[in-house]
Amino acid sequence: MWEKTFGLFNSILGSNGPDKWMWRGVKGDEFFVADARRIIGKDLEPISGSMIGWVKWIPKKCLVFMWQAVLNMIPTRTELTKRGIHVSSCSCSLCGLAPETANHLFSSCEVAGHIWSLFESWTSVPSGVCSSVFELSRLHLTASLPQGKKEAVQGLVITICWRLWKAGNDLVFSNIPVRIVDIVSDIMALGFFWYKNRHRLKPVFGQIGVLSV
Ligand SMILES: [Zn+2]
Repeated sequence: MWEKTFGLFNSILGSNGPDKWMWRGVKGDEFFVADARRIIGKDLEPISGSMIGWVKWIPKKCLVFMWQAVLNMIPTRTELTKRGIHVSSCSCSLCGLAPETANHLFSSCEVAGHIWSLFESWTSVPSGVCSSVFELSRLHLTASLPQGKKEAVQGLVITICWRLWKAGNDLVFSNIPVRIVDIVSDIMALGFFWYKNRHRLKPVFGQIGVLSV
């Protein structure tokens, strides 16, 4: 054992120069951010079931929001209460009929139900099978749609969830009443605006019917 250890020391080449940091990347000593990302990424295990597919036409803030919602990391009243933060009520800020959780807000809330009914008429994709945010985030995978429409449907789901969350915040922080017609109007306007300005395949969004409601 000792011989082996000393053998290892002998294999180290010393120098008389000062010590310095060196990058041992894939392509020699030159540093590349992509190399660092690849090396770090190899040791990072994704949290099971938390992956959200990238949607090019959706703003990053909405993608991050959806990812947090799937992980149950958005500050719903129930989660705030669990963490010892005082809230006036744990009831859903949209309907007031059930405890406010991410799964309730985006799938079982009656306000969300109205929006999902319209979503079905726009896309012909049944959303009633979803009882959680996780299932909503994968709804586009369960439907038999071509790839272009899958991305449109996925983005629309995220837009709806983001707008529902905003409706709750608008009521709580700005006293703006929850009106389904306003939520729908915003979903259509934002969806069209984002898709038109951030996506090259413009016809798909028209085909799923968002503009024809
Ligand atoms: Zn509700």
